[in-house]
Amino acid sequence: MKCLFCAIVNGEIPADIVRQSDNVLAFNDINPVAPTHILIIPKIHSENAAELTLANPEVLIECFEMAASIAKERELNGYRTVFNTGADGGQSVFHAHLHLLGGRALSWPPG
Ligand code: AMP
Ligand code: ZN
Repeated sequence: MKCLFCAIVNGEIPADIVRQSDNVLAFNDINPVAPTHILIIPKIHSENAAELTLANPEVLIECFEMAASIAKERELNGYRTVFNTGADGGQSVFHAHLHLLGGRALSWPPG
């Protein structure tokens, strides 16, 4: 099956792009659960964060760097970064993506 987020990287499916580098793309989540809800993804396909960690650790770090940079630019009063991994982890799109959530107080623990 075709990968949705690879299609976004390739420009085959539109996305509301926030920022990008050579290796990483950030775009607004289509179903935001916070005022800032951005997905930060590697441009090269990895199924999840575990695979990305093994295949391309420097790109994993770049995802977190971009999250921190966007949060700083938006002057967020704190934020949350989450990689959901696997079915019980709540992953629904199997191209690694870092959720950047902020702009409101976030409760803990998550559901
Ligand atoms: P997860 O459940 O962690 O795999 O997160 C997948 C996220 O992708 C969800 O928050 C969805 O709202 C989001 N999403 C799904 N399709 C799109 C799309 N075409 N553009 C932007 N975000 C999307
Ligand atoms: Zn993909």
